[in-house]
Amino acid sequence: MTMAEDYYSILGVSKDASADEIKRAYRNLALQLHPDRNPSKEAGEKFREVNAAYAVLSDPEKRKQYDAYGPAGFSQHYSEEDIFRGFNFEQIFRDMGINIGGMGGEEMFGSLFGQGMRSSNAGQSILYRIDLTLEQIAKGAQQEISVKHVRRCDRCEGSGAEPGSKVVKCPECSGRGQVVTVTTTILGRMQTVTTCGRCGGKGRSYEKRCRACNGKGGVVATEKVTVTIPAGVNEGMRLRLGGMGDFGPGGSGDLYVEVHELRHSTFTREGYDIHAEVKVPFYTAILGGSVSVPTLDGQREITIGEGTQQGKTIVIRGAGITKLRGGGSGDEIVTVNIEIPRSLSQQQRELIERFRESGQEGKRRFGVF
Ligand SMILES: [Zn+2]
Ligand SMILES: [Zn+2]
Repeated sequence: MTMAEDYYSILGVSKDASADEIKRAYRNLALQLHPDRNPSKEAGEKFREVNAAYAVLSDPEKRKQYDAYGPAGFSQHYSEEDIFRGFNFEQIFRDMGINIGGMGGEEMFGSLFGQGMRSSNAGQSILYRIDLTLEQIAKGAQQEISVKHVRRCDRCEGSGAEPGSKVVKCPECSGRGQVVTVTTTILGRMQTVTTCGRCGGKGRSYEKRCRACNGKGGVVATEKVTVTIPAGVNEGMRLRLGGMGDFGPGGSGDLYVEVHELRHSTFTREGYDIHAEVKVPFYTAILGGSVSVPTLDGQREITIGEGTQQGKTIVIRGAGITKLRGGGSGDEIVTVNIEIPRSLSQQQRELIERFRESGQEGKRRFGVF
């Protein structure tokens, strides 16, 4: 698993790299590998590693532990959930000036070069990781999550104006809606035109800013959101909840819920199929009978044929995961594990010995084998 790999070499920094160097390295790699810029499977895999590396090395406490345990020891002490706990993509990307916005490459480029293509006063999109059990994935589920985002301010209804306040020409841009900045570079004087941050390009402002949001039009709030998870989703899949991201006067961002599949104690998943093992007493394997096996809907009796061999697989049709795009469900594949008693009573021993003798008689009688 990737967890045991050296995070320093993943980010391409030295062991004594400063927090700033780590941040720079991560930013560069994130821009190269972001799935929207680089949709290849390898890049996606690498992006995940880079994120794990940054989640650990950017957190002084986790970094200390990582340095103390080493890559292999660390992965024994910390699960992937631990590594990403408290790791807020949205915030990190925002702090670094990477606009994942609507996850579009164009938006990321826009922010890279200073001005976004999209309205500068539109709200940001948010990425939220959700942990799902195999049962939830198999049948689909509704899950309530708490999302911290910028909500439209109730007091001013998002306008940023104190109720009853007069409309005036924006003092920042003198009503033009744009601000011109002139910088002197080696290539000469450069003029950049940006949308006015105060009025968001409208050219109008208000005499008094709203008291509740200080004129921003939005307030930070933690809200409960019910996410409907369709059956059959895969690790890393993103569900988009339009307009549930941060509020902005130029439009709200979206909320992306990224699926993370929790490991199951009984089943392993393979596409839409699930695999399980069942213990079968040796006498049932020999004589035939039935055993109880776990399924996603609870225990179920299955028939074991006479003379069943170790490692035989039995398929329970349709007991797997409901397919995402319809077409029924996958199967459950049960592998037989024959149980041999570790000790026998005197009577059992005698019975088995008689069984053995009957076999030898048979050999003598037929003179074969
Ligand atoms: Zn307000
Ligand atoms: Zn303005």
